[in-house]
Amino acid sequence: MAYTLEHKIPKSMLNKGTGFLSGYTHSLNPYAGCSFGCSYCYVRQMPVSIFRGLPWGSWVDVKENAAEVFRRELLRAQSKGKVTIFMSSSTDPYQPVEAKECITRSLLEVMVQIQPDFLLVQTRSPLVKRDVDLLTQLGDRVRVSMTIETDLEPIRRHFTPGTPSIEARLRTLKVIKEAGIPAQATIAPVLPSSENFPDKLLNVVDRICIDDYFMGDGSGGKRTHRLGLESLYEELGLSDWYQPDAYKRVVERFIHVFPPEHVRISQQGFEP
Ligand code: SF4
Repeated sequence: MAYTLEHKIPKSMLNKGTGFLSGYTHSLNPYAGCSFGCSYCYVRQMPVSIFRGLPWGSWVDVKENAAEVFRRELLRAQSKGKVTIFMSSSTDPYQPVEAKECITRSLLEVMVQIQPDFLLVQTRSPLVKRDVDLLTQLGDRVRVSMTIETDLEPIRRHFTPGTPSIEARLRTLKVIKEAGIPAQATIAPVLPSSENFPDKLLNVVDRICIDDYFMGDGSGGKRTHRLGLESLYEELGLSDWYQPDAYKRVVERFIHVFPPEHVRISQQGFEP
């Protein structure tokens, strides 16, 4: 999707971890807006999107000078205690613009010097591979969590046409794993998938996180309902996947292939 880009100097970078992210002391967003523009993105319903008055996915703000602001805040936060960071909660830190702007990379450079107690990198982009050199320096203080909501390419294209292919994400997870960086596949939100999905992830990650709209959108599924997502399922004749218990089908499939303790559900799957 074409998008407009603006450069803005942020007043702050670290936000308090609240609600779904209450297991974290902070969240960190290198950008505002996200050009992946996923149909189900819950940020569409949040003030940052509503007050912008532009379609979600059509704008991105680059937080210029983010590393300097972040460094100050990280030092201050560390002087008060443990620091656990979720990057990112309302943007993708490796969306396409990051290839040129390197804001996320600049934040990782700070974290290599001033290491937080834990960092979760949440992305759906193969660009994360570029930063393997920095991520390895964080040892077991980091986990890369790659969103892979389905193993079916037509389903991905239907719900999130602006995002990287499933194949590219699987290849990326393999690179991350082979570099010795802790990684997980995050099936969130659960989209219709095949019975073979667990096999495709078996030698790629040890850990799986499964979440859906009803547990994970912060409003019991109401935000997602307001987005009118049901129609996307109806168009495919797959309305049975838009149900509060649909995720159990995926869990069942995965616990036949992965040790059950490696298959985490909803908030538990994202925790440090
Ligand atoms: S990648 Fe994440 S933040 Fe970006 S549009 Fe998709 S769900 Fe929203």
